[in-house]
Formats: sequence, structure tokens, C-alpha cells
Amino acid sequence: MRAQPKASHFIDGEYVEDTAGTVIESIYPANGEVIARLHAATPAIVEKAIAAAKRAQPEWAAKSPTARGRILKRAAEIMRERNRELSELETLDTGKPIQETIVADPTSGADSFEFFGGVAAAALNGDYIPLGGDFAYTKRVPLGVCVGIGAWNYPQQIACWKGAPALAAGNAMVFKPSENTPLGALKIAEILIEAGLPKGLYNVIQGDRSTGPLLVNHPDIAKVSLTGSVPTGRKVYEAAAAGLRHVTMELGGKSPLIVFDDADLESAIGGAMLGNFYSTGQVCSNGTRVFVQRKVKDAFLARLKERTEAIVIGDPMDEATQLGPMVSKAQRDKVFSYIEKGKAEGARLVTGGGIPNAVNTEGTYIQPTVFADVTDEMRIAREEIFGPVMCVLDFDDEAEVVARANATEFGLSAGVFTADITRAHRVVDQLEAGTLWINTYNLCPVEIPFGGSKQSGFGRENSVAALNHYTELKTVYVGMGKVEAPY
Ligand code: NAD
Repeated sequence: MRAQPKASHFIDGEYVEDTAGTVIESIYPANGEVIARLHAATPAIVEKAIAAAKRAQPEWAAKSPTARGRILKRAAEIMRERNRELSELETLDTGKPIQETIVADPTSGADSFEFFGGVAAAALNGDYIPLGGDFAYTKRVPLGVCVGIGAWNYPQQIACWKGAPALAAGNAMVFKPSENTPLGALKIAEILIEAGLPKGLYNVIQGDRSTGPLLVNHPDIAKVSLTGSVPTGRKVYEAAAAGLRHVTMELGGKSPLIVFDDADLESAIGGAMLGNFYSTGQVCSNGTRVFVQRKVKDAFLARLKERTEAIVIGDPMDEATQLGPMVSKAQRDKVFSYIEKGKAEGARLVTGGGIPNAVNTEGTYIQPTVFADVTDEMRIAREEIFGPVMCVLDFDDEAEVVARANATEFGLSAGVFTADITRAHRVVDQLEAGTLWINTYNLCPVEIPFGGSKQSGFGRENSVAALNHYTELKTVYVGMGKVEAPY
């Protein structure tokens, strides 16, 4: 099998196997080939991983942030040196085209290690609070053992986005990738050891929805950071609440992307396509409700159709390929069912909707799809599809579109395309979302906070803000005089 790792889990600095765990088959979505066979963690493996993390964490926390950061920055360098190899693995794991993985996956993971390796020394400071003669100070202290649980769309990036701030702040991590994409995180764990990370601080265990609760309910964990769907988020949040554990929830969305009639239309179409078709539409922050002002609707749709039909679909390992298959058959079936719902509800299919020609029929390919004349009540406009399906809705004026854009339980992202600078800021100010873009879409460099509001979650990844979510504040009051007690 061409991507078989040495073993299923990486614990305490080495690969570990326990064949008693349920079999997880890793399937290359481009042709259905089984490329690795792994085992889900048994309760014994979960215990082993958490015990290793708990043992290793205090010594790591006692190091200076600069010393910790040096190791993370070395990991970033190794990831960049191995970008090609890691990107190919990410393509095998997910089916995403190499054209994307080579610029967006290991590289964004490396950015995360580089950034948090650098800011650790500068951003983990506390405050000095003068109180007359007395004073107080605060310290940012690590939480302890943190659990990371990943989705399948950006497996390596998610493993790094959770691992880098956790480790920089002095925590240990046990990370569970999605059962659909088990391979990449193991390599991240290997690279961290090579970079000099003491063993036990970054452990990877495999498993599915039955393994997650073993981690989240464990008494020795301090925090869980989940990237996943809203229903999973509710379950994980509930379990974490029972143990009063910290949480970061990066969940789903149905984000609005608003195109006013004064916008640069080619850029707006480009933004809408990136925000619906990149990674075959499997991006949480996608702008899947594209509101287009009526005056430019026809021009927008005509050019969008033309550009969408020119997308190169094919073998993900071919550098010319722009759109690969979906991650799994189950996910593609779900997307097809939404396409059927869209047609049944009266949306107009502008392009796509089926299986593309000239692809491996064992692969889980799907055409990039555009629906027009979509209305707010349609299920395709209300529910997260998580595939390459763009819904175009019409609007007339600003107040109307803001109200309609906000009429959703989700609040992950939003975007506005307009040439009117005042309107751009006025509109984003009113949109209910955690991450917003003006005249671009879906750019998430590590320097800026990323995360959602409403049902899309809370807590932030990336930026200095993420360090706050992996630490807690300790306040120390210092008495400088005698204690005057009234008794
Ligand atoms: P999912 O919710 O099915 O699974 C996510 C992870 O949670 C998997 O590792 C899964 O094994 C685990 N899990 C499932 N049930 C669990 C439980 N009860 N306890 C603990 N762990 C459990 O999501 P998915 O299908 O892998 O990913 C797609 C979803 O993720 C979409 O909704 C998408 O919007 C969301 N997502 C969000 C972000 C973000 O940053 N906001 C990024 C990527 C994906």
C-alpha cells in the first residue's frame, strides 16, 4: 500500500500499533485505491497518549518561551524543506489537487509553527497592576494537556493550527485526525520530534466519532479544540462542559458573499469561485450564498458560467488539475442529494450538477455547480452542503441584503465586493460573522484571527489571540505592609 505509515499512532516520540482497534481504511479519492490500513485507538492507546502528554508537559512549560519557539521554528523549516513530499501525502489523503496542496497545506502549517515559535517569547507576558503600596501581577500559564480533533478538509493545516499555539504556550497535545484523512498528522508528529520537541508533547491517535469522546471525557485533559460540523460541536461542547474544560469550536457555516453593482466584476467572480470551488468546495468559511445586485446579475452569471466550465478537472497529482474529487463517496452522495433538492425546489441550474467527463470513474468527482434564482427559504440556501455548489441569490438594496445575509444560525464568515469604501465598512460592520473580507475572499494568513460567531463556534485560531485560548490567567496579589485584621 503506497502510503502505509509505520504504525497507526504516534505516542511518546514513537510509532505505536494496537491491532485490536477497528480498521480504518485510507482511500485515495481520485481512484478509490486503499492506500493505507490503520487501526482506531483502543481505550489503552488513549490512556497511553494522555499519560505521555501529562508526563511531558510540566518540563516543557518550565522552558523559556524562546527555547520552545526555537524548536517550533525548526519544525517549520523542515516542513518547508519537505513541502513536495508532504503535499503529495496531503493530496493522497484528501484528493485535493497538488496545485493547491503545494501552496496551501504544509506551507500554512509551517507558517503556523514559524509564527507561534516567534511570538511565544513576546506575547506570553502578564501585567503589573499598581495598588498603592501593594501591587499585583498576572501571568499567562498553560492549561496542561490539550486535545485537538480535526476535520478532513485541511488535515495537515488543522494539525498545525492547533498544535503550534498549544505547544508555544507550554501545553502538550493529543491530536485525533479525521478518520477520512489519517495520514498527514503522523508526519507532523514525526517532524516535531526531528526538530527537537521532547517526546510525549505532540501525540497523534487515530479514531472516529466513537474515539473522540474517550479523549474529551478524560479527566486529565484541560481543553478540547474541535474543527468539525455544528452537530459534532454541540456534542463535544456538552461533553467538555460536564468536565468544565476549555473549548475552541471551529464549526460549519453558510456564509454570505455580497456583490454590489459597482464591484470589479471579474474580481468578484474570482472571489466567489475561490470561495466555492477551492478544495472542491470543502472549506468551512466558503461564501456559499452569493448575493448579486440585480443590475449586474446577468453579466455576473454569464461570466461565472464561462469561467466555471473552463476549470480543469482531473488527476490531482497532475499540476495542471484545478479541481480534484471530493474526500469520500459519502460526502459526494450528500452533495448530489443537495443538488437534487435545489432542482426540486425550483433553483435554476446554470452549470454542473453531475459527474465530469474524462475522470477516473472510481474517483469521487463532481462538477463545479452553480444555481441561480435561489431564494432564502430553499434548503440549498440554508444548510451547509460542503461541496462545490454555489448558490446565487438576487438583491436590490443594501439594508435588504444585510438582513437576509444575517438570517442564518451560522456566523463563520462573510464577504463584500464593492468599489464604495464607505459602504464596504458600513456593511461588514453589520454582518454577523467572525471573519470578514472586503474585495477578496477566504484569505486566512496566520497573522489574523480566524473563527466564527453564532452557531459557527467560538474561540479563535491563528494570531496572538490563539495564545489566549491555550493559556489561562493567574493573578498574584502582593501585600507589601502588615496585615490589619479587625479581630
Ligand atoms: P465532523 O463533525 O463529522 O467530524 C469532525 C471530527 O470530529 C472528526 O475527527 C470526527 O471523528 C470527530 N467526532 C465526531 N463525533 C465526535 C464526538 N461525538 N466526540 C468527539 N469527536 C467527534 O466534521 P467533518 O465532516 O470531518 O468536517 C466537515 C465539517 O467541519 C463541516 O461542517 C465544516 O464546516 C467544518 N469545518 C470547520 C472549520 C472551521 O475552522 N470553522 C474548518 C474545516 C471544517
